[in-house]
Amino acid sequence: MALPDYFQRGAVAVAQVIAGFDESAIRNRLESVVLGISVSTAAAHTVQGTVAAELLVRLAARMYPAIKLDGPSDRVASLSDLARSINPDVELSPEGATTVSVSVGGGRHTATQPTIYVGSSALTARVTTKAPASVGRSVLPFGAGAGACLAMAAIFRHVFMDAPLSESEVDFPVVPGGRPPERTQSATRANLAFVGVGAVGNGAVWAISKLPEPPLVDLIDPEVIELSNLQRYVLARRDQVGIAKVEVAREALPDARVFQSDLTGYLNAVGFIHEMMAVSVDSARGRVAAQASLPKVVVNGWTQPGDLGVSAHSFLGDGACLACLYLPKSVSPSEDAVYARALGVPEQQPHVRNLLYSGQPVPAPLLTLIGQRLGIDEALMSPFADKSIRELYREGLCGGAVLPIGAAGTLRQDVHVPLPHQSALAGIMLAARCFILAATSAHGRTVVSRVDVLKPVNPAFMNQLALKDSRGLCICQDSEFISAYAAKYGQ
Ligand SMILES: [Zn+2]
Repeated sequence: MALPDYFQRGAVAVAQVIAGFDESAIRNRLESVVLGISVSTAAAHTVQGTVAAELLVRLAARMYPAIKLDGPSDRVASLSDLARSINPDVELSPEGATTVSVSVGGGRHTATQPTIYVGSSALTARVTTKAPASVGRSVLPFGAGAGACLAMAAIFRHVFMDAPLSESEVDFPVVPGGRPPERTQSATRANLAFVGVGAVGNGAVWAISKLPEPPLVDLIDPEVIELSNLQRYVLARRDQVGIAKVEVAREALPDARVFQSDLTGYLNAVGFIHEMMAVSVDSARGRVAAQASLPKVVVNGWTQPGDLGVSAHSFLGDGACLACLYLPKSVSPSEDAVYARALGVPEQQPHVRNLLYSGQPVPAPLLTLIGQRLGIDEALMSPFADKSIRELYREGLCGGAVLPIGAAGTLRQDVHVPLPHQSALAGIMLAARCFILAATSAHGRTVVSRVDVLKPVNPAFMNQLALKDSRGLCICQDSEFISAYAAKYGQ
């Protein structure tokens, strides 16, 4: 049995959400698990059963080194290939009994170990420990995909938080109040631009690709897949490191147009034509820029310390636009101050600022000083001799290379490493919201959906209305932006 070679990234994600685990404790805990994933014969012949089982494997193989698959033999064969494409060293015939299991679809089960059952309908996921749950006949993949994520969240809490598998019975609505639309032609015709094809975008593209008739999609992202991305990018295989993120996503959506560029490059190439944007970039600035390009509707997906979620925005009316949610609420410490303090050299802030700006390697005297202040062995610091101060901060402190993981103090949003099921769930909720909005053209009030899957989920508290910025500072309260939007869409 072997953990994937991108295990350390996964360990960082675990350590960020659970206090008291170091890398070897995480390794030991993962290596003690034999995870069972089963799909009943009946479920394996439905879209929902098929996609739930597939996503379970896409999530599990990134984290757990030993997985036992059970179901119709052709399905087990293809799921085994999928698992090995994600972690070539995954153990699929582990010795010993499974220690915890996920089971998709109804049917008789004789499990003796803790088991979580996944069922679904078009837009609702069901997870329960009580009894097998059945999957529906709808060809929409959203409820089933969310069910896979919630099951993996329950497994995670069971493995790392010593929480009993206690989901008595949760019915999770992927879209607030969402009923499956009777007609979906307008969703199929929608032109949807994905701004950012990172971890959340991967979950969204995966879900969209499972629709019987996926809409036309533009995929926009300047980056290539790095090894550390494998930890939570559900579309990515181990052999795709170094390939553009948009190309990896195009494998799932062959008709997509791809733009290996940032939003500005995309707008320069095609103009401001997009009516619907799915935004999952990792900065507030990027989100505000997406809103400022005045799509008719923006749907936003995120993961952050504490929660994950989705919000959908028009531009006129009372509801918050996307930029309203990301306006600075207070003066936050500057980046150079945060870095200088975290590295133990607050008096070097001007020097740190220059290094952040130039991207030059950290000079040897400063590297030595940082090592002394943080009490770190010189040998651990030396690999950073030719690295930038940003790399030292991200990989050394927050990535666990020089300071033990979890010891770097308060996390900044930009170094937050989500768990695979968190990113995937945000992506599926993002895709589902886009699909329903495109199918129904109902762009009413701004509804923000948030969920924290580190606790048992309570759907009653997921959704909130959001109003425009109360200070009147946002672009959606600016007369020039308002008239440009109104002219663009004839409102
Ligand atoms: Zn606004």
